[in-house]
Amino acid sequence: MSSVPPTRFVEVVFDRPLDLAFSYAVSDELAERVRVGGRVACPFGRGDKHIEGFVVRITETVPDRPVKPIAKVLDDEPLLDEHLLKLTRWMADYYLCGWGQVLQAVVPAGVRDRAGTRSVAFVAAVPSEELPNPLPSVTPKQKRALEALRAASEPMELNALARQLGGAGAILGLVSKGLIRKFAERVERPTESDSSHSALRTPHPALQLNSDQQRAWDTIQPALASGGFHPFLLHGITGSGKTEIYLRAIEEVVKQGKEAIVLVPEISLTPQTIERFSGRCASVAVLHSHLTDAERGQYWRRVATGQVQVVVGARSAVFAPARKLGLIVIDEEHETSFKQESTPRYHARDVAVMRARFADVPILLGSATPSLESWYNAHRPGGYSLVSLPNRVENRPLPKVELIDLRHEAKTPGKHFAIGPTLEKAMHGALKAGGQVMLFLNRRGFSTHVHCPSCGHVAQCAHCDLALTFHRHKSSLVCHYCGWETAPFTKCPACSQVSIRYQGLGTEKLQEEIESKFPNRVVQRMDSDTMGSHGSHRRVLDAFREGKIHILLGTQMIAKGLDFPNVTLVGVVNADTGLHLPDFRAAERTFQLLAQVSGRAGRGDKGGRVMIQTFTPEHPCIALATHHDFVEFSKQELGHRKEHLYPPYQRLARLIVRSENEKAAEAYADTLAGAFTEALKRHVKPGTPPVRLLGPAECPVFKLKGYYRFHFQVQSAASGALHAVLREVLSAAKPTSGVEFQVDVDPYSML
Ligand code: ADP
Ligand code: ZN
Repeated sequence: MSSVPPTRFVEVVFDRPLDLAFSYAVSDELAERVRVGGRVACPFGRGDKHIEGFVVRITETVPDRPVKPIAKVLDDEPLLDEHLLKLTRWMADYYLCGWGQVLQAVVPAGVRDRAGTRSVAFVAAVPSEELPNPLPSVTPKQKRALEALRAASEPMELNALARQLGGAGAILGLVSKGLIRKFAERVERPTESDSSHSALRTPHPALQLNSDQQRAWDTIQPALASGGFHPFLLHGITGSGKTEIYLRAIEEVVKQGKEAIVLVPEISLTPQTIERFSGRCASVAVLHSHLTDAERGQYWRRVATGQVQVVVGARSAVFAPARKLGLIVIDEEHETSFKQESTPRYHARDVAVMRARFADVPILLGSATPSLESWYNAHRPGGYSLVSLPNRVENRPLPKVELIDLRHEAKTPGKHFAIGPTLEKAMHGALKAGGQVMLFLNRRGFSTHVHCPSCGHVAQCAHCDLALTFHRHKSSLVCHYCGWETAPFTKCPACSQVSIRYQGLGTEKLQEEIESKFPNRVVQRMDSDTMGSHGSHRRVLDAFREGKIHILLGTQMIAKGLDFPNVTLVGVVNADTGLHLPDFRAAERTFQLLAQVSGRAGRGDKGGRVMIQTFTPEHPCIALATHHDFVEFSKQELGHRKEHLYPPYQRLARLIVRSENEKAAEAYADTLAGAFTEALKRHVKPGTPPVRLLGPAECPVFKLKGYYRFHFQVQSAASGALHAVLREVLSAAKPTSGVEFQVDVDPYSML
């Protein structure tokens, strides 16, 4: 360390749950290079190991206790601008985690390690005033090198010049004589996605808006023209032409020289979706989960340097480093995949609304079945502006939805068929008339329940309290949560009887049944087991569009956003699969899924019908889905939520305590319960909304991935009160060894 005391200090945050910034001194030689939003390496903890962190503040105020100096500057340019710093700071506050954890998650690995770039050596002439005196003599080859460099009038790649000269020797000689200088610069490496991206561009003309779309556009357009924060909820039934509104909105801001971010669920990032955007907008970057680190790094740098006007991507695209943001669009805003299920447990829609607020730009949330949170926000004063597209384009009718009550379907004795005679007959009819059929079942595998009828033993995961699913193709019992696999057994491991039963229906078994019932038809299954690579998804959908596949069956993957005009029948094999989960959103999710699936039928001139098999046709979320009646469903469901103090009327947070040692988890949950009681007592003040605590209780899935889990649910009508109590409990919480806790604000997973 130098003897002069440092005059510059930085605050640094690390990838730790601590919500604290640490002060460090900056030596004079590094002072010019530190940047807010860039990373530095610093000594940390016992032993002063160097770890990397983000600089969040530079100051000349001397800290009130002695600080260590930073060791290294890792980025000469900030990785995030002040807007993203502000947004990530907000996330740390709201989701109750470390700012450093948020930054670590937001900046892709490929940006941090500069993947996709390579260091290239350049040479340039030395300015005349810096030339050595007297000038050294040069060889003829060195003379040629100097002339070539002068002719280029800008720095040249060392390798290119060496090629011209037939070797690098002369150039290096000039460098050591001080006549030219050599330096390194990072340049982008060409990646595959560049070419595939341009190949996708087929221009699409703008459509003539119909009267509903025109009305929607007239409401939204002034907000785009004037700029400023303005959230819109675009509620449009499937096939009502929401995308055309998104495209117009994007064109409007691009015309103003600004940039747009479009978030779609990962599952909808199909070539078809991408084409619709890239066909209309000049420079589109697509951010999907199949990108390599290098591609991700490159994408980030292209956006940050203003080379991209429109970013289309899943959840993490909300952090795209657009510097001239003019608009955010979120399609299918109700999708739960916008929620990240690891720290930071953020919801991309909510972060997007915050980003739009900070950047002071409009935001457009669209859905056929808005989340009840957004719907509620669109109906309270000062919330979102509601814009509706109540009809399908070109007066195409909504498909007729029929319920098939499985309790009354004729059964074949001794057989458990997935599809009953009514649906089967309708399938034959649709296929005979030249239409195509989609069958939806939200369960993978062959048998979803393997048990012993004599002792009741159920095959369970060794690490989770969950039943194993039998996958016939790979002849294995698989845990769908943690991926653990074991060989199927022929006799019961508990009582040794040889009467093991394989029950419950997955897509694999459905495929077998359909193939045997429709031997002359081409049947294709689409779920995450058959769609291994990105390309396979596209190949199947192309083949289906070309009519080479008659019956497409699958999970969620076939439910979302796909548009096939020739699909005249959509069958839902079992509408009840998600209905009885211990989750207050179970009815909402079932309604959304049925509406999405129904939306796949009748998109062309031939019209279409939807058949839903169910054991509970009277349940409101199923009955109302048949009438496409979201408004009535939301009214009933919101009434229910209000009565039971669930979101959106109450804010909810979940705190999970887990340990591989059951006793330790339980003991720590009790300690936290004590801390909660204290915090709640202090919190009771007249005029502040109450905070309610439920728990500690065992989580609905008590053991998961080898951890025993207890949870608390904390509720309050006011987010501020909820956060105050949680912050107090968390700051007092010092978990014993082997015990961890997780905080989930606005949780989606209740298991
Ligand atoms: P949504 O996203 O609301 O389900 P889409 O935007 O996919 O609906 O539109 C459904 C279909 O209608 C698409 O094929 C689209 O090209 C077409 N479409 C949209 N707007 C119009 C319009 N004004 N005139 C004719 N066709 C339209
Ligand atoms: Zn498991």
